[in-house]
Amino acid sequence: MSLHYLVTGGAGYIGSHLVLALVGAQHQATVLDDFSTGHRWATEGHEVIEVDIRDLAALRSALLHRHFDGVFHFAAKSLVGESGQKPLLYYQNNVTGTANLLEVALENDWRHCVFSSTAAVYGSPQSAVIAEEHPLNPVNVYGETKLAMEQLLSAVHKQGAMHAVCLRYFNAAGAAPDAHRGEWHEPETHLIPNVLRKAAGEARPLTIFGDDYDTPDGTCIRDYIHVLDLAQAHLKAMAMLHREGGFHTLNLGSEAGYSVREILRACETTVGQPITHDIGPRRQGDPPRLVADAGRAGQILGWRATRGLREIVDSAWLWEQERQRLQAR
Ligand code: UDP
Repeated sequence: MSLHYLVTGGAGYIGSHLVLALVGAQHQATVLDDFSTGHRWATEGHEVIEVDIRDLAALRSALLHRHFDGVFHFAAKSLVGESGQKPLLYYQNNVTGTANLLEVALENDWRHCVFSSTAAVYGSPQSAVIAEEHPLNPVNVYGETKLAMEQLLSAVHKQGAMHAVCLRYFNAAGAAPDAHRGEWHEPETHLIPNVLRKAAGEARPLTIFGDDYDTPDGTCIRDYIHVLDLAQAHLKAMAMLHREGGFHTLNLGSEAGYSVREILRACETTVGQPITHDIGPRRQGDPPRLVADAGRAGQILGWRATRGLREIVDSAWLWEQERQRLQAR
């Protein structure tokens, strides 16, 4: 059955891959974005509603009398460093924006929401792998706002008004370069795109943030999950909500940990040449190891990551070359 979904933040990295997956599954997608960080080229061919979710009146009038079978909510500010410098912007955009969206959703009787959450809600890990029962102690404003957004959804669910799944991503990476989609943030802070931008010849330093952690090679370990695997989990989560309803929080990760040095080596293999880098001090707030226990997503959604590090890095490199061409235009 073809359904019609609203995708907030659908011009962004993960949202635009979800739009592709929806269309691939014969659904219809309408993108809602303020284009503060999203890209217009990523929405070509799709209906777009341009509105800032902080503006309740504008949101209400843009969505008046619209019917959607559910909402995928990605629209959020997502830079950890920036969130500490601009906490009000993050709370207004992420938390107030979500309250506004939920208000309009309830007015229009849309009762299913899949929310883009993050492993940042856990804060400093207290175990080797992180399951959903891990204490919730975000250590930055970004994580605090994502936790508040989960809590808003939970409260609205308890009121009997909304079924929701909060998907806590670990490190989203990779791309669908054949569809001209991939990661493009300015400034870019994430490891894999930073390494590949350097490999593509950008005149920028590439720094490993700390090699004195208590890990086998001294650099931080993360769980990288392919963005196409993430998109599939969203489809399954929405389908499950339509079947069973409820409120769920689920980790999405590959359950494999790779160190910064291992990522660098994987990128060098894909690119076929050494990538110049230096070693710098630790970045504030980086835990040594963050790896998901994604067992609950397996049980509840029948989902698991199917694409490994090779596919992540190869697709990210193809995309980086495409991105360089787009940037040069
Ligand atoms: N990292 C790094 N150099 C960079 C970007 C990131 O060494 O230019 C490290 C970072 O300290 C962390 C890991 O790579 O240990 C993943 O960082 P990223 O920002 O990609 O994701 P995060 O885990 O912070 O969400």
